[in-house]
Amino acid sequence: MQKDQGTLYVVATPLGNLDDLSPRAVRQLNACDRILAEDTRHSRKLLEYYAITTPMQAYHDFNEAGKVTMIIGQLQGGLSMALISDAGTPLINDPGFKLVNAAHKAGIPVVTVPGPSAVIAALSVAGLPTDRFVFEGFLPDKRVARKRHLQSLANEQRTLVFYEVPHRIRATLDDLSTIFGRERKAVIAKELTKQHESVRRGTLEELIAWLDEDTSRQKGEFVLMVSGATPLGIPEQEARRILSILMREMSVKQAATVAADILGESKNRLYKLALEMKEIPD
Ligand code: SAM
Repeated sequence: MQKDQGTLYVVATPLGNLDDLSPRAVRQLNACDRILAEDTRHSRKLLEYYAITTPMQAYHDFNEAGKVTMIIGQLQGGLSMALISDAGTPLINDPGFKLVNAAHKAGIPVVTVPGPSAVIAALSVAGLPTDRFVFEGFLPDKRVARKRHLQSLANEQRTLVFYEVPHRIRATLDDLSTIFGRERKAVIAKELTKQHESVRRGTLEELIAWLDEDTSRQKGEFVLMVSGATPLGIPEQEARRILSILMREMSVKQAATVAADILGESKNRLYKLALEMKEIPD
């Protein structure tokens, strides 16, 4: 029974440049019985480019609940399927989680055919530390929630990576600058592998000026990377302890000023830490 089961292949596709599909991906897309695509119309272009004629069917995590069960049934019945998304690697801010999870639970082999992903492509050209990084995907759409979330990341020391959309890129940079400080280093990687590809490095303030200089720069697909916070000279736990004592008696701002005097640390850093402790949204 086990032998007759199909396999679910999770196949990465190009971010923009159609030539970035791997030879193994082409082989697998040709060999499988069905391709599960996020948007069949969008993926048709890629399949036509490679003359792949495997039938496609739409897959979303929000498809009716029965859809996953149906696909699992087909896999159990012996069909092999390849899951693709519009661009990059499925499940990385793209559909597929429910299906892959269900396939594992049903004992169906799940095999990766790796390839492009915007987060990795962007980090590889940003020139920021990449030995450790935090992938945050898309920030919350609502400004208060976004700011609150950024507040919780203000003291993160690893490189931060965000996906961003054109209508929010400018506002997000504003929020980052307010919360992380306008001097924090960041990188915008835009339209990777496409005609208008660019990688712009600078402080948050400089990047805002760059986007404002020519508003057409605010169009396209973005990965936004932000340098991690420089570590405090003393253990963060100690800074938190002192701030929490001071905040019982005074405002966040005053507590940060006094703590900075006591500890010989940056007032700005301590202010951000104090704000994070208080969870003030704006
Ligand atoms: N699954 C994809 C991956 O592996 O990267 C991500 C899909 S997510 C829905 C789409 C977001 O990825 C875009 O809003 C943008 O932030 C980022 N992205 C995708 N293609 C990109 C590109 N060519 N250049 C820069 N960012 C890109």
